[in-house]
Amino acid sequence: MDELVEVGSAVVYAIPLRTRFRGITVREGVLIRGPLGWGEFCPFPEYDDREAAQWLATAVEQVGVGWPGAIRDRIAVNCIVPAVDPERAHAIVAGSGCWTAKVKVADHPGSLAEDLARVEAVRDALGPGGAVRIDANGVWDVDIAVDHIGRIDRAAGGLEYVEQPCRSIEELAAVRRKVDVRIAADESIRRAEDPLRVAVAGAADIAILKCTPLGGVRRALEVAAAAGLPCVVSSALETSVGLSAQLALAACLPEPSFACGLGTLRLFEGDVTATPLLPVDGFLDVPATPPVPDPNLLDRYRHPDPERTRWWLDRLTRVARLLE
Ligand SMILES: [Mg+2]
Repeated sequence: MDELVEVGSAVVYAIPLRTRFRGITVREGVLIRGPLGWGEFCPFPEYDDREAAQWLATAVEQVGVGWPGAIRDRIAVNCIVPAVDPERAHAIVAGSGCWTAKVKVADHPGSLAEDLARVEAVRDALGPGGAVRIDANGVWDVDIAVDHIGRIDRAAGGLEYVEQPCRSIEELAAVRRKVDVRIAADESIRRAEDPLRVAVAGAADIAILKCTPLGGVRRALEVAAAAGLPCVVSSALETSVGLSAQLALAACLPEPSFACGLGTLRLFEGDVTATPLLPVDGFLDVPATPPVPDPNLLDRYRHPDPERTRWWLDRLTRVARLLE
């Protein structure tokens, strides 16, 4: 594995986000080089080495093996509306070119009135033909979820689906029995065996699928097939280098029914490539090969903190040993 993960040529990056997302304001990770080009290792800091090994396996597939053949060359994506005020939400959607919007809700206790105003503004910006989906990131209990989903569904003029209304698979299944809106499982799917557990429990109508934490495009395709649910490929907040693997996955899946969550580079202040994977008119083109970082941009976003850089390189070294 040593030849696939050259720690000596790895670049630790830090890129500010435009809006706080998933509790972070700066995205950090490592770009690694291999025989086929560049890959990305960016497990969130709280993940242990064993979980992080799957993220590295995704990068190793990209730089050492390559992806399976694509069956389409562009992917419809949703725009992302963080927990912002209605005016800002309207502007994000109107300026996105996307006809599907994913709206963050339940950002803090007592947020319902703000959530309702936000989805109303999003529906207004999309028009009746657009699709509104929401993400609660698992914070509701079953009763609150059933109540809030009903209210938000009415305010939104119909929801496409609700992502992770509650934390556990059992709670998701209970909510799904009580509401008419589709349920999507996201945080419940982190390990390869999870989608099958979700499907067997009747906990979701849709699986949010991310190849980055699942160990690569091939592994994610196996997981999708085992789950037997429609999949929405979504990003793990990668730069264009890592995002390209997610696009490769979306390009291999059977005809997708839903827009994918891969327009996340808009959340970043910048990118490490000169041609960032930003959606145009609601679509992302699937790159044939992994994007190549631009030397000037690598310099701009190279992590400024030597201690933090050392932390990432030590982590990369430890996790690479787990893959041997
Ligand atoms: Mg989610």
